[in-house]
Order: sequence, then C-alpha cells, then structure tokens
Amino acid sequence: MKKVTVVCNTCGNDSVLRDAWSQWDGKQWVLQNVFDDAYCETCDGECSYSYKEIDEFTAFVDDTDKISKETINEFLNEVIK
Ligand SMILES: [Zn+2]
Repeated sequence: MKKVTVVCNTCGNDSVLRDAWSQWDGKQWVLQNVFDDAYCETCDGECSYSYKEIDEFTAFVDDTDKISKETINEFLNEVIK
C-alpha cells in the first residue's frame, strides 16, 4: 500500500508546514482553509515542496531514522525463521 509524503524541494526533508486558517466550532479549532505558502522547519524558511509516493516499509524506516534497511531486513528474517 502506498503512502504519500510531502518533501521540501530544497533539503528533501518532510518537515513541511502550510499556512492555514482554522475556525472555532464551539468546542475546538477546525481546519478551514489551507493556503499555498509553505514553510520548511529544517531550512527555517519558506519553501516549495513536492508530493512523493512511499511504501509502508520505507515510511517505517524513515520514522525510525537511525535503523538501516539492512538492520530491519535482518530482523524480519529472524522473525520469519
Ligand atoms: Zn527544507
């Protein structure tokens, strides 16, 4: 199953935020509109961005950051045995 992530066109990181308005609905702030301007937390400034398709396994590896794909493959092979 494919997931889609958003990456900064400058640094490639996925820490991209968009300008948005939210509206109070009586209980909480609800997202109302998302604007074109984007901000990258890594570059600490405005950025352009792209959507990038990733598979679940890659998403998992990206989340863990420190664990290599090889380490995870070794782990999975151990579990399968
Ligand atoms: Zn960036």
